[in-house]
Amino acid sequence: MTDSPSESLLSVRGLTKHYPVTEGPLRREVGRIRAVDGVDFEVERGETLGLVGESGCGKSTVATTLMGLEDPTAGRITFDGVGVADRDDADRREFRRRAGMVFQDPTSSFDPRMTVGESVAEPLAIHGLDDADRRREIVADLLERVGLSADDADRYPHEFSGGQKQRAALARSLVLNPDLLVADEPVSALDVSVQAGVLSLLDDLQREFDLAVLLISHDMAVVREICDRVAVMYLGEIVEVGPTESVLADPQHPYTRALTASVPRPDPDQRGSGVRLSGDVPSPADPPSGCRFHTRCPEVIPPEGYDFEQDDWRAVMDLRTALAADDFDTEGVRRSASAVRERFGLPEELPDSDAEAVVSEAIDSLTADDREAARRLLAEEFETVCETDPPDLRATEVGHPAACHLHDSAAAESPRAESDD
Ligand code: ADP
Ligand code: MG
Repeated sequence: MTDSPSESLLSVRGLTKHYPVTEGPLRREVGRIRAVDGVDFEVERGETLGLVGESGCGKSTVATTLMGLEDPTAGRITFDGVGVADRDDADRREFRRRAGMVFQDPTSSFDPRMTVGESVAEPLAIHGLDDADRRREIVADLLERVGLSADDADRYPHEFSGGQKQRAALARSLVLNPDLLVADEPVSALDVSVQAGVLSLLDDLQREFDLAVLLISHDMAVVREICDRVAVMYLGEIVEVGPTESVLADPQHPYTRALTASVPRPDPDQRGSGVRLSGDVPSPADPPSGCRFHTRCPEVIPPEGYDFEQDDWRAVMDLRTALAADDFDTEGVRRSASAVRERFGLPEELPDSDAEAVVSEAIDSLTADDREAARRLLAEEFETVCETDPPDLRATEVGHPAACHLHDSAAAESPRAESDD
């Protein structure tokens, strides 16, 4: 096996996982759920990388494909210099030994009929350690390292609290002395009161075992605690990645700003606080065009030639998104123009009279029950780069990369951002 020290422990290139949507008895493919859609990242030896994003963004799918639990649709995963897909059976076993995983629900990691000690020891037996006394020793030592006692080996999972079970699951994932640990929402199912303890344990173990960790969480506060770097994921794509301090102090993507805003900060005046995201992550079966975040972005770029306040522009975009959605309920709004304006948070009159003329014409079409005309007019008049062009992930003024058109002009003006790739 090649083992060049300059190489990342784990390298992921163009990782894609689409689930086919099928219909009818012949299971004809009628669409695809783009759970993960071209993701690149590295995890260095001994590094903790956080993967953060709301529920439904594809984080768990990244984990299961890179662990080999599912085959990716496309992309290349390299572990210690060797493509995971290129491994033969013996090599695959070796990969499984060197990459451990813990899941959100610690109960699922244990067979209720086995003692916790037996469960923790199981991977050792599978990987050929036949000496039962030696297995007991290793398990006893590990249980103590995760804050349990050696005697806990003889107890059954139901005798453990959630936090204790997750500690035991960590012991199990470390029993083969892996180089990489993938932890998918490891504290999300635990009582808030025990979350911090399990996280700091993970942090200690990372150092003690010199582990590389991929820590997956929907919660920026969790990754902030222990990650060296953070990758922010939205709807199957990475939208920003960088050192944790840099990403948190200076988030370059509006999505990251929104995620960090929900984390309590020591300084309430800091930029980004108060931003709240409306709605849920759109379906990955039909992701928005351009920048996938544009349907929810609080900073979506207004169209050229009009003078919009950001809130008004967001309201117009919300109306446009609603008009384009299949489930738009016309009953609720078509009674009157003011009902439409109220529902979408549009003022009675927009400050820019040209913009106002377009919006009132569209609302007139809508109240006259011609939703398609309203949709078309707004789409034609108010086209924004955010919906037409997918932004590339590239270096921003502060250094770390983000994928957002707000950085387009800056990148063109600043030679540093251009050459920094
Ligand atoms: P996260 O872990 O960020 O919450 P997931 O990776 O679990 O996100 O899911 C990403 C998207 O893929 C979701 O829309 C989810 O419904 C979909 N998905 C996940 N697994 C499957 C599957 N086996 N078949 C179809 N869709 C799936
Ligand atoms: Mg998940």
